[in-house]
Formats: sequence, structure tokens, C-alpha cells
Amino acid sequence: MTTSPARVPADSATPGGRPRVVIVGSGFGGLFAAQRLRRADVDITLIGKTSHHLFQPLLYQVATGILSEGEIAPATREILRRQENARVVLGEVTDIDLAARTVTSTVLGRTSVHPYDELIVAAGAGQSYFGNDRFAEFAPGMKSIDDALELRGRIFGAFELAELATEQAEIDRLMTFVVVGAGPTGVEMAGQIAELAHRTLKKDFRNIDPRTARIILLDAAPMVLPSFGERLGGRARRQLNDMGVEVQLGAMVTDVDENGLEIKDSDGEVRRINAATKIWAAGVQASPLARQLGEQSGAEVDRAGRVAVLPDLTLPGHPEVHVVGDMMSLDKLPGVAQVAIQGGRYAADAIKRRLAGKPAAEPFHYFDKGSMATISRFSAVADIGKFKFGGFIAWVLWLVVHLMYIVGFKSRVTTVFHWLISFLGRGRSQRVATQQQVFGRLALENLGPDFEASKTGGPKASPGDEDLTGRESA
Ligand SMILES: Cc1cc2nc3c(=O)[nH]c(=O)nc-3n(C[C@H](O)[C@H](O)[C@H](O)COP(=O)(O)OP(=O)(O)OC[C@H]3O[C@@H](n4cnc5c(N)ncnc54)[C@H](O)[C@@H]3O)c2cc1C
Repeated sequence: MTTSPARVPADSATPGGRPRVVIVGSGFGGLFAAQRLRRADVDITLIGKTSHHLFQPLLYQVATGILSEGEIAPATREILRRQENARVVLGEVTDIDLAARTVTSTVLGRTSVHPYDELIVAAGAGQSYFGNDRFAEFAPGMKSIDDALELRGRIFGAFELAELATEQAEIDRLMTFVVVGAGPTGVEMAGQIAELAHRTLKKDFRNIDPRTARIILLDAAPMVLPSFGERLGGRARRQLNDMGVEVQLGAMVTDVDENGLEIKDSDGEVRRINAATKIWAAGVQASPLARQLGEQSGAEVDRAGRVAVLPDLTLPGHPEVHVVGDMMSLDKLPGVAQVAIQGGRYAADAIKRRLAGKPAAEPFHYFDKGSMATISRFSAVADIGKFKFGGFIAWVLWLVVHLMYIVGFKSRVTTVFHWLISFLGRGRSQRVATQQQVFGRLALENLGPDFEASKTGGPKASPGDEDLTGRESA
């Protein structure tokens, strides 16, 4: 690897002669690919824009104070510490050059160029506001630890401010929580806010009664959990109603501001909901790297920004470039963790076969292990092959499966402990919310272009800012 400002052409292998595998992303696809290459005679460079591996399915539990961020986001470096052929590099990949076979990453003004022989791109997807990015300021999504902590601050903060408010209209606005998107994330989030208001906080305030909080789950689609089918979706909807969550379907969000949302119902009526806390759990957009790959390889890019891959998860004309997980499209596979995990492992196996001189493997085959979503403590829905069921057994299964995929023994132990506190008791151990979490991002974003520049590579370098050390880090 070289560091800024020079770019180097790719050699065929490292000085030691081992093929170089560069992996972009430390999520499900990237991490599981790296681990699968543990015994391979290669040099792996895993580049991630965060220093942790994030278990996204439990983000909503960080946002609602059940788990701490460390439990669902262990350091990638720690996970791979015993894997000697793997090196972890912090940086945001800004450029992939398929012709030169290089990947460029940048962090705080320092740019690095990584040549590769084999490339696995697993940069995932971000939130989509369907062309209304200005909604993000008032309705954060749930894609990162930053998002979850900001939401935690906003949710607990709303109750604090309601306790101080004197006018009923203001109390009502502060105690109204709107979750946009009735997929698994929205359902889980709405269910947890309801439990927070009705169980955890019920005795904590003197001027307000948290049990009167209004929790609204809305979606433009006509059903809850559409991917689970009508029966389980209907069951989830009834249960949410029983928990006091107002489910509003056929309701399209047309505007969001500081004080609430504007909704257009399926009958064309436009109305407003006053709500201090809005949470966006609708829509994803693939990493912009997918478009780059599409433009250079001629592969199609769909409306969600995903690049179409060949049946072996590579790009046309580039058998050395594997794209896995949420940023690729193939056979209408869903954007779920198992597609990314199995794709990452398949790509790693393909690399091992090629290096061993073996013929290429069969096309990628996704084994659907089913899907699950929790609604409240003791209740979930599960869609596993022919079996579609809900209730307590589904919930226990959900706990076990999620525990299995949390990385690290310590995290598993503390997660079980925190689940006991929250599900058997009424407590939530992670209620801390700092001003930085609530206001930090908004303040930084108000800095405008300077902040954007620092996020992706620091202030523009002036001639005197060049890397004077002449150091090359690989
Ligand atoms: C709130 C939420 C709940 C979910 N619940 C479930 C669930 O219950 N079950 C389920 O199966 N799936 C669930 N999913 C979906 C699942 O998490 C994704 O399908 C899965 O994470 C995709 O894996 P991936 O490797 O493609 O991307 P990710 O896991 O998102 O990983 C992408 C990685 O790439 C890094 N990255 C991105 N851009 C760059 C860049 N330019 N340079 C360097 N690094 C970069 C990111 O930091 C990240 O480490 C959920 C998702 C969310 C957001």
C-alpha cells in the first residue's frame, strides 16, 4: 500500500510473492469473507470506514437503551487479531480503479492506494429518503452506531422535555413518536418504544405519565411486515395495536420538519402529525461504490443503486472482482445478513479455488434460513421454510439466533445479562444520552462543506501539506 499523494500501479503480488486480497467493508459480507480466508496463502487488507464490525439487527436495542454500543460493535481489529494474514485499515474507500486494480481509501486527509489481485467489495447500503434527503435532519435513520445513539438521545430527551413543558400541546408533541416504515426494523422500533413508555418509564416522572405517549407506526404500503406474508403481518399488526401502537397504513410521508410530519393518505387526504421524535426506517440505497463499479464494468445498476453481478458474484469481464451483500443485485435476493454472509464466504472460496488452480465453483446458491422479527418481549414472528409462526417460541428462537451471530464471547455474556434486565425486569441499563449524541451531528453538519471534506479526506491539501515523511505503510 502507498499513502498520499502518490498512486502506484498494481504489481502481480506482494514482495513476498503472496497474492493480495483487498476487502472493502467490515460488515457481514466483508468480515465473513476475511475469516473464510484464514488459512489461505494470501495477504488480506480489510478496509472499513468504521473501526468496528456492526451487528445491525440489534441497533434498535441500542437506540432504546437495552444494549450498549460496544456489545453490537466489536473492534474489527480485535476480531481478526489472531488471523496473521489479515490486516485491518481504517478508511473510506472513495475510488476503485478496475483497470489499474487499485482501491483508494482516505481518512482525515490521508489517502492510501491499495493494489489488489483479488477484490471483494462489501460496502453495504445506507438509508434512502427517496430523494428527500432534507428529511434526515429531523428523522434520523438507523444504519450506524451514530444513528442509534442520536435516536436514544432524542427518545429519552423527549420524555425529559415533556416533564418540563407546561402547555398541553407541547407535551403532546414531545410525547408523540413516529416510526416511518413498517418493515422489521420499524416494527421492532415501535414495539420497543411502546414498552419503554408503558413499562420502563412508567414510574420515573412526576408531571407526565409516560404511558400516555402516542407511538405511531406508518407506512405507504397497505400492510405490516409485507415480506412475512399476510398472516404473520396481520398478527404483528394486531399485537402492535394491543400494545398501544397506532398502525397507519397507506400513509405516505410528504414532508418532515422539526415539529412533525405531513402525510398523504391513500384516499388523497393530506394531514399533519405533530411529533418531536421521528424515526426513518424505510428504504435503503446501496453504497455509491456500486455505481462506480457499474460504470467501469458495464454492469447494470438498479434504482436502489445496487450493481448487477454474474451468477458467481463477479463483475462482467472482471473475474477478480467479487461484489457481495446489500450492494449487489442477483435473482432478487433480499438485503439480509445471510445473503451477505453466504456471499462473502462464497467469494472467499472462489478465490481459494482459483489460487489452487481448481475449476470455478457452481454459481452462488443462497440458502434461505428464514427470517424473524420481534414485536415485544416474549413475542416475535418467524418465517422459516414451510413454518410460519409467532409468539413466545418464535421470540426464544429469535434470541438464540441473534446471540449466535453476535461476535465475541464477552459481548454474548453481557448481552444475555442486559436482556434479562430488560425482559424479565423493567430496567434498561443503557439510558445515557449525551448532548453530543443529540446535537453533535447536527452541529457538525451545519459546518457545511468543511465538515463534509473532513469526513471524507480532510480539508483540501495545500502544496505544503504533502506527505513529507515519505513513509510507505506497506
Ligand atoms: C436496523 C437494521 C436491522 C436489520 N435487521 C436485520 C435482521 O433482523 N436480519 C437480517 O438478516 N438482516 C437485517 N438487516 C440487514 C443486514 O444488516 C444487512 O443485510 C447486512 O448488514 C448486509 O451486509 P453487508 O456486508 O452487505 O453490509 P454491511 O453489514 O452494512 O457492511 C458494510 C460495511 O462497509 C463499510 N463501508 C461502507 N462504505 C464504505 C466505504 N466507502 N469504504 C469503506 N468501508 C465502507 C461499512 O462501514 C460497513 O462496515 C438489518 C439492517 C438494519 C440497518
